[in-house]
Amino acid sequence: MTETPPPFPPASPIPPFPSPGPPPATQAAGLQPVGAPAVAAPVWAAQVLDASKVYGTGEAQVRALDHVTVGFEHGRFTAIMGPSGSGKSTLMQCAAGLDRLTEGRAFIGDTEITRLSEKQLTLLRREQVGFVFQQFNLLPTLDARENITFPLDLAGRTPDPAWMEQVVQTVGLADRLHHKPSELSGGQQQRVAVARALVERPAIIFADEPTGNLDSQSSAEILRFMQRAVLDYGQTVVMVTHDPIAAAYASRILFLADGRIVDELLDPTRESILARMGNLGA
Ligand code: ADP
Repeated sequence: MTETPPPFPPASPIPPFPSPGPPPATQAAGLQPVGAPAVAAPVWAAQVLDASKVYGTGEAQVRALDHVTVGFEHGRFTAIMGPSGSGKSTLMQCAAGLDRLTEGRAFIGDTEITRLSEKQLTLLRREQVGFVFQQFNLLPTLDARENITFPLDLAGRTPDPAWMEQVVQTVGLADRLHHKPSELSGGQQQRVAVARALVERPAIIFADEPTGNLDSQSSAEILRFMQRAVLDYGQTVVMVTHDPIAAAYASRILFLADGRIVDELLDPTRESILARMGNLGA
């Protein structure tokens, strides 16, 4: 059913960094050059190989992803940035198994999701992938606690009580657990959504503009929480954002333009992100 992915994705289509100093882009992007020592290979929570996504046909055809090869390491907070329409959401959706590639291969862990049936994919997503979206996607009739455990309930699993307690404490929701979404602020609703993703202990969490509907203080709380999930609990997070302030919480940023990865930044700061965006004309 599945095939173990190659230890190293093939050579990168990424052009060299604009300034001297950083490591070669093929290494920095998590794309090992041919012949690199095997011990240096990170363990990928997810990866896409030579991935393309084409929408529409004829004159209306759009190549949203254009031969992208990239891996997302376990235990890292990666941000995907780029101008509107550059393919950020498409990359996330295809890497997460929410949408199908037109060409290329996608893996979650060792499982090639491009080979799975819809049913197998749904099961794999349920067990291994967490999602946080701009719209909080909470069920209005359930209270916060029920929303957090809903995916586990659906899968017939019981939350580990100690972990549930830790997640609820960390996300600061202990006194809001019996409130319905309509009784919570936007920031609190998104905290419920992040807790819901985290309580499943997924192999990887994908977040698409998770702070897009929040004020700056609530955004900072959510981002700090996702950062803690990575640093303290070894969670893997991949976040799509157009916001340099949000992206600065990540430890790695991939920049997309016209469906390709055109640059990468490790250990970013707001200033280095803005400078890199300037270089890219974003
Ligand atoms: P971003 O997230 O960077 O804004 P997207 O991944 O949403 O970019 O879109 C990349 C390109 O693909 C855009 O040109 C967009 O219009 C197009 N696109 C995205 N989804 C669809 C779709 N369902 N049908 C047709 N075109 C789409």
